[in-house]
Amino acid sequence: MGANPYYPRQVINHLLGIFVAEAYKHKRVLLKLSGEALMGDKPYGIDTAMTSRIAGEVKEAHEKGLQIALVIGAGNIFRGLSAAAGGIERSTADYMGMLATVMNALAMQSALEQVGVDTRVQSAIPMQTVCESYIRRRAVRHMEKGRVVIFAAGTGNPYFTTDTAAALRAAEMECDALLKGTQVDGVYDSDPKKNPDAARFETLSYHKVLTDDLKVMDAAAITLMRENKIPIIVFSLHEKGGFDKVMRGEGTCTTIESQ
Ligand code: UDP
Repeated sequence: MGANPYYPRQVINHLLGIFVAEAYKHKRVLLKLSGEALMGDKPYGIDTAMTSRIAGEVKEAHEKGLQIALVIGAGNIFRGLSAAAGGIERSTADYMGMLATVMNALAMQSALEQVGVDTRVQSAIPMQTVCESYIRRRAVRHMEKGRVVIFAAGTGNPYFTTDTAAALRAAEMECDALLKGTQVDGVYDSDPKKNPDAARFETLSYHKVLTDDLKVMDAAAITLMRENKIPIIVFSLHEKGGFDKVMRGEGTCTTIESQ
């Protein structure tokens, strides 16, 4: 097959952006979005206004030549643990949860492609007529070519979470940072929505997050990041341009790293 002489606009933008990327602190990152982040103001499911907004945020950073991968949860559709509590066998419920992450991944892929960002979805559970299967080297190559890779189906194993999947993929992709986009702009000493005096941590050690049981990500994810010395950055998905700022090492966030 001959090479295509026509380069789509996003490829050219991406190549130009590589020069701009020098200004960035983090050059390859994994962004973890909980399923709830896709819900917007809805009580469940996917709010396309929200997926478009997140896509715009990703595009802004991606256009500067940064390599971005996403892992998306499924709390907006299905959580294995709650379904297991309702009587479905745990592993089966977890597989159902993983399938729900694929739906979210496809919704995010659609939103990203609508704003002109080239993407690939790779699933940890093979489903070849829907998306690619997870292949590490192929995922790296996609990112090098300027595609945003969306990892679906978590780790592919029950009894895990998409937080752990995000940490695992961040380590495998040798990312500079794992970003967790949340409803608030970092980790607080108490719930900022309930306590107006809650104080935000600028930085935290992995150790403190684990010993104080701060609800940032599950313990397996934190431990994996500690072992691989990959910082976790918690920031708000609601601040416009927040993702781009955090990528430049600016903006309001909490950084969890070795201290
Ligand atoms: N899940 C799983 N293994 C994985 C990742 C996810 O079994 O590696 C299942 C699990 O049932 C979980 C559901 O998928 O409840 C959705 O993931 P998660 O709860 O992490 O989503 P989030 O809270 O980020 O929206």
